[in-house]
Amino acid sequence: MKIGFIGLGIMGGPMAANLVKAGHTVRGHDMSAAPVERLAALGGEAAAGVPDAVGGADLVITMLPDSPQVEEVAPLVVAHGRPGLLYLDMSTIRPETSRRVAREAAAAGVRALDAPVSGGERGAIDATLSIMVGGEREAFEAARPVLGSLGTTIVHVGPAGAGQTVKAANQLVVGGIYGLVAEAIVLLEASGVDPVAGLDVLAGGLAGSRILELKRHTMIRREFTPGFRIDLHHKDMGIAVAAAREAGVALPLTGQVAQLVAAARAQGHGSLDHSALLKVVERLNT
Ligand code: NAD
Repeated sequence: MKIGFIGLGIMGGPMAANLVKAGHTVRGHDMSAAPVERLAALGGEAAAGVPDAVGGADLVITMLPDSPQVEEVAPLVVAHGRPGLLYLDMSTIRPETSRRVAREAAAAGVRALDAPVSGGERGAIDATLSIMVGGEREAFEAARPVLGSLGTTIVHVGPAGAGQTVKAANQLVVGGIYGLVAEAIVLLEASGVDPVAGLDVLAGGLAGSRILELKRHTMIRREFTPGFRIDLHHKDMGIAVAAAREAGVALPLTGQVAQLVAAARAQGHGSLDHSALLKVVERLNT
């Protein structure tokens, strides 16, 4: 396929590279020159701008930081895309923005899907991302082979915006678990109990989780190299809180987790891994 790829950052760079590896013609654009050059060196093509990346493409992917960037780029994708174009926005943004993008795309004959991902930079490099897709099923089926070169768990979760809602749910659960693991560490240490032994037990019981499995040792050692940055999780908690408001539901724990993440950022930890929520809980207790 001829694929246009816009946003070649931490996630988009390796994703575009995997599409090249899978045999697609990938024309990439980013507002920074360096990632475009990296893609070209790997066998991709350098586009001069969004219209150049989109023109003649069968499928376009955007992987941008947040809703404002998608709001800026999506109208250009729709304006310059051929009728029937598949447009996948894989950024994590507000569900409402994805629904609007899909409506405006449909009016121009472009088939838009929201397809945010989970799995981090490692998952992007290894093509093992989890991808949650919202939009028309027919468009999902058409995009599925390409998504298969990016991830291993690929699920159509509902209509436009549903992918982003699932991603918001994912992020509130991840943030909540980090917050509670942090509180468990603070309790164990303050009580004179070895946190390594304590969390080993938790990890093997009903409280076990991927986060306990993968992160308990680095948290206890206070190693907070990202990973996924507090700044991005702050953005995602904002999306979760806004999505709850839009859906007319109260999510009190989500609200508290959002405040803990905001505190981590306010304390200057925005560029640390999100497991640095432990620093906030510690600060409440010293
Ligand atoms: P990033 O900041 O590394 O990459 C974004 C890229 O978009 C940058 O290279 C930037 O130059 C480019 N860009 C910004 N505005 C642009 C514009 N108007 N036109 C063209 N290019 C533009 O971010 P990332 O870590 O790759 O994350 C991308 C998205 O994926 C975010 O929504 C993030 O929340 C989500 N996500 C990230 C991770 C992760 O672990 N990093 C995991 C899952 C989901």
